[in-house]
Amino acid sequence: GDSLIYLDNAATTPMSAVAIAEMTKVMQETHGNPSSIHSHGRHAGKLLREARQDLAHLLGTKPQHIFFTSGGTESNNTAIIGYCLRHQERGKHIITTAIEHHSVLETIDYLVQHFGFEATIIQPVNQEITAQQIQEALRDDTILVSTMYANNETGSLLPIAEIGHILKNHPAAYHVDAVQAIGKVPIHPEELGIDFLSASAHKFHGPKGIGFLYASSADFDSYLHGGDQEQKKRAGTENLAAIVGMVAALKEDLEQQAEHYQKLEGLKSAFLDEIADLEYYLNESQHQLPYVANIGFPGQKNDLLLLRLDLEGISISTGSACTAGVVQTSHVLEAFYGPDSPRLKESVRISLSPLNTEEELKELAQTLKNIIGD
Ligand code: PLP
Repeated sequence: GDSLIYLDNAATTPMSAVAIAEMTKVMQETHGNPSSIHSHGRHAGKLLREARQDLAHLLGTKPQHIFFTSGGTESNNTAIIGYCLRHQERGKHIITTAIEHHSVLETIDYLVQHFGFEATIIQPVNQEITAQQIQEALRDDTILVSTMYANNETGSLLPIAEIGHILKNHPAAYHVDAVQAIGKVPIHPEELGIDFLSASAHKFHGPKGIGFLYASSADFDSYLHGGDQEQKKRAGTENLAAIVGMVAALKEDLEQQAEHYQKLEGLKSAFLDEIADLEYYLNESQHQLPYVANIGFPGQKNDLLLLRLDLEGISISTGSACTAGVVQTSHVLEAFYGPDSPRLKESVRISLSPLNTEEELKELAQTLKNIIGD
């Protein structure tokens, strides 16, 4: 192909022009430290307060529930470690699912390996995690339940509201890794019974290296020490420009959320129509975001397919982690289909954003036909 096509939006998204403009303005006009008391500092502090207010408003909550972080990984680590270490005398049992991002799974494993916690890891049944499975795993000593809102490899949606509802009758806190869902569906954590919610700006057309943690209360240990920022929960000078860019990007996304959702449903089904002649299967759940098509072509090795598409200027992913250029087997597909499923070696992730066009997906379909058809 002569044009580059980006279809790896679950890995990261291009920044929105509005977010770039807002960030640039802050970098050009505001260099003060929000903690300084002089006028430069006060101006930066005002922008920080406004950004926090705007973000709280978008989430239907109050500014004191917003903690800015460096992204999804840090938000997940902060919520899980900060809450569990503080409350460990109440119990040391954590519930999570087998399809979580590694920044949740490995953080919980760290508490298990080094602090004597015990984890129940829920396995999906028929590609679904159910609220009933969570309910059955709850114990008197369960202090935290951590589930994602939407899966990064497949777009599968988890029953967040149902789990939140169940946990209203249990003292365990509910942490939701909403990194793949924020901006794509309207989310008001307070209505959903969520105690902690993690988000990352670069997944919703904001800058990389910035995110936030919603927390229903500041009842968790500090993760970074040595400064009064973020109610002393996250020391360090705030990345004001990135914070402003993040809030602008989320605002823009949420304003067009319903249209975008519809557009992506249309793009995905049009793409699937285009490749109707090819033999393929989808790795999906019944409840599913339209942003991701995790798809396999029988007999086609995913790493080879990925490289051949890359040669044609089309960027997609296998969805699973890529360490030192070597594609690892997906723990999500393994949980869905078992360790011996050919899907683990055949599946690729096509992930869309509202910036993608029907023409781009037509070109992907044609390229796939050229590669697989011969
Ligand atoms: N959680 C999920 C579900 C993700 O998809 C990602 C992104 O890779 C993360 C957490 C980590 O976010 P970040 O890249 O901001 O650290």
